[in-house]
Amino acid sequence: MERTLVLLKPDAVQRDLVGEIISRLERKGLKLVGLKLMRLSDELLNEHYSHLVGKSFFPEVKSFMQLTPVVACCWEGTEAVNTVRAICGITKAREAAPGTIRGEFAMSVQANLIHCSDSLETANAEVKRFFKSDELFSYDDVLERYVYNSS
Ligand code: UDP
Repeated sequence: MERTLVLLKPDAVQRDLVGEIISRLERKGLKLVGLKLMRLSDELLNEHYSHLVGKSFFPEVKSFMQLTPVVACCWEGTEAVNTVRAICGITKAREAAPGTIRGEFAMSVQANLIHCSDSLETANAEVKRFFKSDELFSYDDVLERYVYNSS
């Protein structure tokens, strides 16, 4: 089982899409193991988006991410990282595939509703960055057998 980080960005919060997005991930069969609202500090954003520090658009990305609290979630499942990535869609939301969250609900590169970890290594680091160990839960999912069967 993998764990992956999802952030519902300020545009998801303002546009009342939090429930819709969480519902899509739930209905896919992923297990919610962590959930909270957070205001993102400069320090946390510099670390989280370290690959963008130095890009001309980074200050705008940062202030966008600080407009409202974000919803941080941790999802668990077999191959959860790639599964969530596929459900999320590509960065430029206008061109994201129909059926994906960005493809269905967003038009922008910056305001693209959702962040999700892009590899298992990143996911492990991001889950640790956003959640303390006592904010993550392990529990039996009674439907797991029906969601996965044997594979
Ligand atoms: N972003 C932006 N302009 C760009 C590229 C990225 O505003 O030209 C923002 C956008 O919100 C994106 C985030 O920075 O989701 C992180 O960029 P990354 O390339 O990591 O894309 P992601 O993994 O979120 O699809």
